[in-house]
Amino acid sequence: MSEIKVVTNILKANDELNAVNRKRLDEKAIYVINLMSSPGSGKTSILEKMISRLKDDIKIAVIEGDLYTTIDAQRIEAQGVPVVQINTGGACHLDAYMIKDAIDGIDLDGIELLIVENVGNLVCPAEFEIGEDIKITVLSTTEGNDKPLKYPLAFEKSKAVILNKIDLIEHTNFDKQKFYDDVRSINDKAVFFETSCTKDLGLDGLCEWIENKVKEKQSSKI
Ligand code: MG
Ligand code: ZN
Repeated sequence: MSEIKVVTNILKANDELNAVNRKRLDEKAIYVINLMSSPGSGKTSILEKMISRLKDDIKIAVIEGDLYTTIDAQRIEAQGVPVVQINTGGACHLDAYMIKDAIDGIDLDGIELLIVENVGNLVCPAEFEIGEDIKITVLSTTEGNDKPLKYPLAFEKSKAVILNKIDLIEHTNFDKQKFYDDVRSINDKAVFFETSCTKDLGLDGLCEWIENKVKEKQSSKI
């Protein structure tokens, strides 16, 4: 079998399981976010901030994707929400099959928001739908403004783009205007947020936006 055919088959099998996951999560009106970024952009820190702000209003569960460790899952567990760890054993992205297994391990009753922290990697996670309503991509100012053009798929497929570590921007040569222009050229509908977890900036707006999305999904089911 040719390599192209193998890849096509993998993506087709993933699409089928994605639909299974979607149906299961839709039936319970659970809003699902697939959170993506390269390693070290601050996904877990943003997640901690989101949980601490939202957990009194919304029932949250988290799936943590990681190559080998449970470090991030322990941080989320400390926030007092249910978390399931997926160790990919070196695989560089989550797929719908892994998520199917993970949601088998969560009591979905009453859960309103499921956040999946994908493996730190700006490339292939964007290719695999896992059952999510939306993707959110995080980029930090220390990574450079050239990333949207270098890794367009993640930015193209994301409903929201978070520019994190905004407090550090003055210490970098990050060109914010160029960044916004480049993302816009790939995805003219993306919603932008600027955040800093260490300085606690921009997180209220982000959480408000997410809370509205969760409520929208719930009201569409009634
Ligand atoms: Mg993390
Ligand atoms: Zn991968």
